[in-house]
Amino acid sequence: MPELRKDPIIDRWVIIAVERGRRPHDFVVESEPPSGAFCPFCPGNESKTPPEIAQWGRPANEPPNTPGWNVRVVPNKFPALTHEGALDRQGLGMFDQMNGIGAHEVVIESPRHDWDFASATPEETRDILGAYVARVAALREDERFVYTLVFRNIGTVAGASLAHPHSQIISVPIIPGQVKEHLDAARAYYMQKTRCVFCDVLRQELSMHDRVVEEDEHFVVLSPFAARFPFQLQIYPRRHSHDFTLMTPPEIEALGRTLSRSLHRIRETLGNPAYNMMVQSAPHEHSRPGHPEYWGTLPQDYHWHIDILPRLTKIAGFEWGTGFYINPISPESATEYLREATV
Ligand SMILES: [Zn+2]
Ligand SMILES: [Zn+2]
Repeated sequence: MPELRKDPIIDRWVIIAVERGRRPHDFVVESEPPSGAFCPFCPGNESKTPPEIAQWGRPANEPPNTPGWNVRVVPNKFPALTHEGALDRQGLGMFDQMNGIGAHEVVIESPRHDWDFASATPEETRDILGAYVARVAALREDERFVYTLVFRNIGTVAGASLAHPHSQIISVPIIPGQVKEHLDAARAYYMQKTRCVFCDVLRQELSMHDRVVEEDEHFVVLSPFAARFPFQLQIYPRRHSHDFTLMTPPEIEALGRTLSRSLHRIRETLGNPAYNMMVQSAPHEHSRPGHPEYWGTLPQDYHWHIDILPRLTKIAGFEWGTGFYINPISPESATEYLREATV
Protein backbone atom coordinates (compact mmCIF):
# COMPACT_ATOMS: atom_id res chain seq x y z
CA MET A 1 0.00 0.00 0.00
CA PRO A 2 1.54 3.37 -0.96
CA GLU A 3 1.86 5.85 1.86
CA LEU A 4 1.74 9.64 1.97
CA ARG A 5 4.27 11.07 4.43
CA LYS A 6 4.68 14.68 5.50
CA ASP A 7 8.12 16.09 6.08
CA PRO A 8 8.45 16.87 9.83
CA ILE A 9 10.06 20.27 9.16
CA ILE A 10 8.27 21.83 6.17
CA ASP A 11 4.84 21.37 4.61
CA ARG A 12 5.97 18.93 1.92
CA TRP A 13 4.43 15.55 1.25
CA VAL A 14 6.07 12.52 -0.32
CA ILE A 15 4.58 9.36 -1.83
CA ILE A 16 6.37 6.24 -0.58
CA ALA A 17 5.26 3.80 -3.27
CA VAL A 18 6.95 0.60 -2.17
CA GLU A 19 5.27 -1.80 -4.57
CA ARG A 20 6.98 0.08 -7.34
CA GLY A 21 10.10 -0.46 -5.31
CA ARG A 22 12.92 -2.76 -5.99
CA ARG A 23 16.11 -4.03 -4.48
CA PRO A 24 19.22 -1.84 -4.57
CA HIS A 25 20.67 -3.53 -7.68
CA ASP A 26 17.45 -2.84 -9.62
CA PHE A 27 18.20 0.87 -9.66
CA VAL A 28 20.06 1.82 -12.81
CA VAL A 29 23.41 3.24 -11.81
CA GLU A 30 24.67 6.08 -13.93
CA SER A 31 28.05 7.29 -12.79
CA GLU A 32 31.04 9.05 -14.21
CA PRO A 33 32.54 7.70 -17.42
CA PRO A 34 36.32 7.70 -16.90
CA SER A 35 37.85 10.16 -19.31
CA GLY A 36 41.41 10.43 -20.53
CA ALA A 37 40.93 14.11 -21.32
CA PHE A 38 43.15 16.91 -20.03
CA CYS A 39 42.43 17.72 -16.37
CA PRO A 40 42.99 21.28 -15.10
CA PHE A 41 42.75 20.07 -11.47
CA CYS A 42 45.67 17.60 -11.62
CA PRO A 43 49.04 18.67 -10.09
CA GLY A 44 51.27 20.35 -12.69
CA ASN A 45 48.28 22.10 -14.31
CA GLU A 46 47.86 24.77 -11.60
CA SER A 47 48.25 27.56 -14.20
CA LYS A 48 45.10 26.31 -15.96
CA THR A 49 42.84 27.37 -13.09
CA PRO A 50 42.40 30.93 -11.77
CA PRO A 51 45.06 31.65 -9.06
CA GLU A 52 44.41 29.79 -5.81
CA ILE A 53 42.58 31.41 -2.89
CA ALA A 54 43.88 28.94 -0.30
CA GLN A 55 45.67 25.59 -0.12
CA TRP A 56 46.51 22.95 2.46
CA GLY A 57 49.67 20.85 2.33
CA ARG A 58 52.28 22.91 0.45
CA PRO A 59 54.82 24.62 2.81
CA ALA A 60 54.20 28.38 3.07
CA ASN A 61 57.69 29.26 1.77
CA GLU A 62 57.06 27.55 -1.59
CA PRO A 63 55.57 29.50 -4.51
CA PRO A 64 51.76 29.46 -4.89
CA ASN A 65 50.03 27.65 -7.76
CA THR A 66 52.62 24.86 -7.86
CA PRO A 67 52.31 21.16 -6.95
CA GLY A 68 52.70 19.97 -3.34
CA TRP A 69 49.15 20.76 -2.12
CA ASN A 70 46.70 18.27 -0.64
CA VAL A 71 43.60 20.49 -0.93
CA ARG A 72 43.40 23.56 -3.15
CA VAL A 73 40.68 26.24 -3.36
CA VAL A 74 40.33 28.27 -6.58
CA PRO A 75 37.66 30.57 -8.01
CA ASN A 76 35.38 28.77 -10.49
CA LYS A 77 36.62 29.55 -13.99
CA PHE A 78 33.04 29.73 -15.21
CA PRO A 79 31.26 31.23 -12.18
CA ALA A 80 27.47 31.23 -11.92
CA LEU A 81 27.72 34.63 -10.20
CA THR A 82 30.25 37.46 -10.27
CA HIS A 83 32.27 38.62 -7.28
CA GLU A 84 32.81 42.18 -8.58
CA GLY A 85 30.50 45.14 -8.04
CA ALA A 86 27.97 46.47 -5.60
CA LEU A 87 24.65 44.83 -4.94
CA ASP A 88 21.97 46.73 -6.82
CA ARG A 89 18.32 45.96 -6.18
CA GLN A 90 15.78 47.41 -8.54
CA GLY A 91 12.22 47.10 -9.66
CA LEU A 92 11.19 46.59 -13.27
CA GLY A 93 7.50 47.39 -13.19
CA MET A 94 6.11 44.74 -10.85
CA PHE A 95 9.21 42.55 -11.22
CA ASP A 96 12.15 42.57 -8.79
CA GLN A 97 15.67 42.12 -10.00
CA MET A 98 19.22 42.52 -8.81
CA ASN A 99 22.62 42.03 -10.39
CA GLY A 100 24.20 38.60 -10.10
CA ILE A 101 26.66 39.27 -7.30
CA GLY A 102 28.04 36.22 -5.54
CA ALA A 103 31.06 34.02 -5.02
CA HIS A 104 31.70 30.68 -6.69
CA GLU A 105 34.71 28.67 -5.51
CA VAL A 106 35.99 25.17 -6.19
CA VAL A 107 37.60 22.96 -3.53
CA ILE A 108 39.93 20.51 -5.31
CA GLU A 109 39.84 17.72 -2.76
CA SER A 110 42.94 15.73 -3.61
CA PRO A 111 45.92 15.86 -5.97
CA ARG A 112 44.86 12.34 -7.05
CA HIS A 113 42.53 12.25 -10.05
CA ASP A 114 41.11 8.85 -9.02
CA TRP A 115 40.76 9.72 -5.31
CA ASP A 116 37.45 8.78 -3.67
CA PHE A 117 35.90 10.33 -0.55
CA ALA A 118 34.47 6.89 0.30
CA SER A 119 37.96 5.51 0.99
CA ALA A 120 39.70 8.66 2.21
CA THR A 121 42.11 8.78 5.18
CA PRO A 122 41.18 10.81 8.30
CA GLU A 123 43.90 13.36 7.46
CA GLU A 124 42.46 13.89 3.96
CA THR A 125 38.88 14.41 5.13
CA ARG A 126 40.06 16.68 7.97
CA ASP A 127 41.78 19.01 5.46
CA ILE A 128 38.76 19.07 3.12
CA LEU A 129 36.27 19.83 5.89
CA GLY A 130 38.76 22.36 7.30
CA ALA A 131 38.78 24.04 3.87
CA TYR A 132 34.95 24.20 3.87
CA VAL A 133 34.91 25.79 7.32
CA ALA A 134 37.67 28.30 6.54
CA ARG A 135 36.16 29.42 3.24
CA VAL A 136 32.59 29.77 4.55
CA ALA A 137 33.89 31.77 7.52
CA ALA A 138 35.81 34.05 5.12
CA LEU A 139 32.91 34.53 2.67
CA ARG A 140 30.64 35.43 5.55
CA GLU A 141 32.75 38.54 6.15
CA ASP A 142 31.45 39.96 2.86
CA GLU A 143 28.35 41.96 3.81
CA ARG A 144 26.84 41.50 0.33
CA PHE A 145 26.37 37.76 0.85
CA VAL A 146 23.69 36.35 3.13
CA TYR A 147 23.88 32.63 2.43
CA THR A 148 26.60 30.16 1.45
CA LEU A 149 26.13 26.56 0.29
CA VAL A 150 28.88 23.92 0.19
CA PHE A 151 28.05 21.03 -2.14
CA ARG A 152 29.53 18.14 -4.12
CA ASN A 153 28.14 16.86 -7.42
CA ILE A 154 29.47 13.40 -8.25
CA GLY A 155 28.76 11.89 -11.67
CA THR A 156 27.50 13.58 -14.81
CA VAL A 157 23.85 12.87 -13.92
CA ALA A 158 24.36 14.85 -10.72
CA GLY A 159 25.82 17.78 -12.65
CA ALA A 160 29.57 17.19 -12.36
CA SER A 161 31.42 18.50 -15.39
CA LEU A 162 34.92 17.39 -14.33
CA ALA A 163 35.80 13.91 -13.02
CA HIS A 164 38.60 15.11 -10.68
CA PRO A 165 37.13 15.05 -7.13
CA HIS A 166 35.99 18.50 -6.08
CA SER A 167 33.32 20.37 -4.14
CA GLN A 168 31.90 23.81 -4.77
CA ILE A 169 31.02 26.75 -2.58
CA ILE A 170 28.52 29.39 -3.71
CA SER A 171 27.61 32.55 -1.78
CA VAL A 172 24.48 34.45 -2.78
CA PRO A 173 22.95 37.85 -1.90
CA ILE A 174 19.50 36.44 -1.02
CA ILE A 175 18.21 33.56 1.11
CA PRO A 176 17.09 30.95 -1.45
CA GLY A 177 13.38 30.02 -1.23
CA GLN A 178 13.83 26.40 -0.15
CA VAL A 179 16.30 27.46 2.55
CA LYS A 180 13.91 30.16 3.74
CA GLU A 181 11.09 27.62 3.94
CA HIS A 182 13.20 25.49 6.33
CA LEU A 183 14.33 28.49 8.37
CA ASP A 184 10.77 29.80 8.72
CA ALA A 185 9.45 26.35 9.69
CA ALA A 186 12.22 25.87 12.28
CA ARG A 187 11.54 29.29 13.78
CA ALA A 188 7.76 28.72 13.88
CA TYR A 189 8.26 25.39 15.68
CA TYR A 190 10.64 27.02 18.16
CA MET A 191 8.20 29.87 18.82
CA GLN A 192 5.50 27.33 19.63
CA LYS A 193 7.50 24.75 21.63
CA THR A 194 10.80 26.45 22.59
CA ARG A 195 12.58 23.43 21.15
CA CYS A 196 14.65 22.77 18.05
CA VAL A 197 12.57 20.76 15.56
CA PHE A 198 15.68 18.97 14.28
CA CYS A 199 16.67 17.92 17.83
CA ASP A 200 13.13 16.59 18.26
CA VAL A 201 13.35 14.63 14.98
CA LEU A 202 16.71 13.23 16.08
CA ARG A 203 15.33 12.15 19.47
CA GLN A 204 12.36 10.47 17.80
CA GLU A 205 14.53 8.70 15.19
CA LEU A 206 16.97 7.47 17.85
CA SER A 207 14.15 6.06 19.95
CA MET A 208 12.43 4.31 16.98
CA HIS A 209 15.77 3.35 15.39
CA ASP A 210 14.29 1.93 12.16
CA ARG A 211 15.77 4.67 9.97
CA VAL A 212 19.13 5.11 11.76
CA VAL A 213 21.93 3.80 9.55
CA GLU A 214 24.73 4.45 12.05
CA GLU A 215 25.61 6.67 14.99
CA ASP A 216 28.63 7.53 17.07
CA GLU A 217 29.48 9.94 19.86
CA HIS A 218 29.17 13.00 17.58
CA PHE A 219 27.00 12.19 14.53
CA VAL A 220 23.84 10.30 13.53
CA VAL A 221 23.20 9.08 9.97
CA LEU A 222 19.58 8.44 9.05
CA SER A 223 17.29 8.02 6.08
CA PRO A 224 14.59 10.66 6.69
CA PHE A 225 10.97 9.67 7.41
CA ALA A 226 9.65 11.51 4.32
CA ALA A 227 12.66 10.87 2.07
CA ARG A 228 11.99 12.22 -1.42
CA PHE A 229 14.61 10.03 -3.09
CA PRO A 230 15.61 6.35 -2.71
CA PHE A 231 18.52 5.90 -0.29
CA GLN A 232 18.53 9.59 0.67
CA LEU A 233 20.71 10.13 3.76
CA GLN A 234 21.05 12.90 6.32
CA ILE A 235 23.92 13.37 8.76
CA TYR A 236 23.09 15.32 11.94
CA PRO A 237 25.46 16.45 14.67
CA ARG A 238 24.18 15.19 18.04
CA ARG A 239 25.20 18.47 19.65
CA HIS A 240 22.71 21.20 18.81
CA SER A 241 24.43 23.80 16.63
CA HIS A 242 23.06 26.07 13.90
CA ASP A 243 26.35 26.64 12.15
CA PHE A 244 28.74 23.99 10.86
CA THR A 245 31.73 26.35 11.07
CA LEU A 246 31.41 26.04 14.88
CA MET A 247 32.47 22.36 14.78
CA THR A 248 35.27 21.48 17.21
CA PRO A 249 38.41 19.71 15.88
CA PRO A 250 37.22 16.31 17.25
CA GLU A 251 33.84 16.89 15.55
CA ILE A 252 35.56 17.69 12.24
CA GLU A 253 37.53 14.42 12.50
CA ALA A 254 34.40 12.46 13.41
CA LEU A 255 32.43 14.01 10.53
CA GLY A 256 35.18 13.02 8.08
CA ARG A 257 34.92 9.39 9.24
CA THR A 258 31.11 9.43 9.18
CA LEU A 259 30.95 10.97 5.71
CA SER A 260 33.47 8.51 4.26
CA ARG A 261 31.58 5.58 5.77
CA SER A 262 28.20 6.82 4.50
CA LEU A 263 29.54 7.31 0.97
CA HIS A 264 31.16 3.88 1.20
CA ARG A 265 27.81 2.34 2.21
CA ILE A 266 26.15 3.98 -0.82
CA ARG A 267 28.87 2.69 -3.13
CA GLU A 268 28.71 -0.84 -1.66
CA THR A 269 24.90 -1.00 -1.82
CA LEU A 270 24.21 0.74 -5.12
CA GLY A 271 27.32 0.30 -7.25
CA ASN A 272 28.79 3.69 -7.94
CA PRO A 273 25.82 6.03 -8.35
CA ALA A 274 25.93 9.73 -9.14
CA TYR A 275 24.97 11.77 -6.08
CA ASN A 276 24.68 15.27 -4.67
CA MET A 277 25.85 16.21 -1.20
CA MET A 278 24.88 19.51 0.44
CA VAL A 279 25.93 21.08 3.74
CA GLN A 280 22.79 22.76 5.08
CA SER A 281 23.95 25.40 7.55
CA ALA A 282 22.65 28.69 8.94
CA PRO A 283 22.60 31.86 6.83
CA HIS A 284 25.06 34.65 7.64
CA GLU A 285 23.86 36.50 10.71
CA HIS A 286 24.35 40.06 9.42
CA SER A 287 22.10 42.52 11.17
CA ARG A 288 19.22 43.71 9.02
CA PRO A 289 18.13 47.32 9.34
CA GLY A 290 14.44 47.38 10.22
CA HIS A 291 14.50 43.71 11.29
CA PRO A 292 16.25 43.78 14.71
CA GLU A 293 14.91 40.32 15.63
CA TYR A 294 15.54 38.75 12.23
CA TRP A 295 18.06 36.16 13.41
CA GLY A 296 17.09 36.46 17.07
CA THR A 297 16.47 32.74 17.71
CA LEU A 298 18.52 31.26 14.85
CA PRO A 299 21.20 29.77 17.17
CA GLN A 300 18.42 28.01 19.10
CA ASP A 301 15.98 27.04 16.33
CA TYR A 302 18.18 25.87 13.43
CA HIS A 303 20.34 22.73 13.38
CA TRP A 304 22.91 22.25 10.60
CA HIS A 305 23.10 18.92 8.76
CA ILE A 306 24.29 17.24 5.57
CA ASP A 307 22.03 15.84 2.86
CA ILE A 308 23.20 13.09 0.51
CA LEU A 309 20.97 12.38 -2.50
CA PRO A 310 21.92 9.39 -4.68
CA ARG A 311 20.59 10.08 -8.19
CA LEU A 312 18.72 6.87 -8.89
CA THR A 313 15.32 8.05 -10.12
CA LYS A 314 14.31 10.63 -12.70
CA ILE A 315 12.32 13.72 -11.81
CA ALA A 316 9.37 13.66 -14.24
CA GLY A 317 6.18 15.54 -15.07
CA PHE A 318 4.31 14.79 -11.86
CA GLU A 319 7.20 15.97 -9.65
CA TRP A 320 7.93 19.07 -11.76
CA GLY A 321 4.23 19.93 -11.91
CA THR A 322 3.42 19.46 -8.23
CA GLY A 323 6.61 19.39 -6.15
CA PHE A 324 5.24 16.08 -4.89
CA TYR A 325 7.81 13.25 -5.06
CA ILE A 326 7.30 9.54 -5.50
CA ASN A 327 9.92 7.44 -3.70
CA PRO A 328 9.88 3.79 -4.81
CA ILE A 329 11.70 2.39 -1.76
CA SER A 330 10.77 3.01 1.86
CA PRO A 331 13.41 4.75 4.00
CA GLU A 332 13.16 1.77 6.40
CA SER A 333 14.21 -0.77 3.73
CA ALA A 334 16.87 1.63 2.41
CA THR A 335 18.23 1.83 5.97
CA GLU A 336 18.37 -1.97 6.26
CA TYR A 337 20.33 -2.30 3.02
CA LEU A 338 22.73 0.49 3.96
CA ARG A 339 23.31 -0.91 7.45
CA GLU A 340 24.29 -4.27 5.95
CA ALA A 341 27.01 -2.73 3.77
CA THR A 342 30.50 -3.57 4.99
CA VAL A 343 32.49 -0.47 5.91
ZN1 LIG B 1 42.66 15.40 -12.49
ZN1 LIG C 1 18.85 21.12 17.38
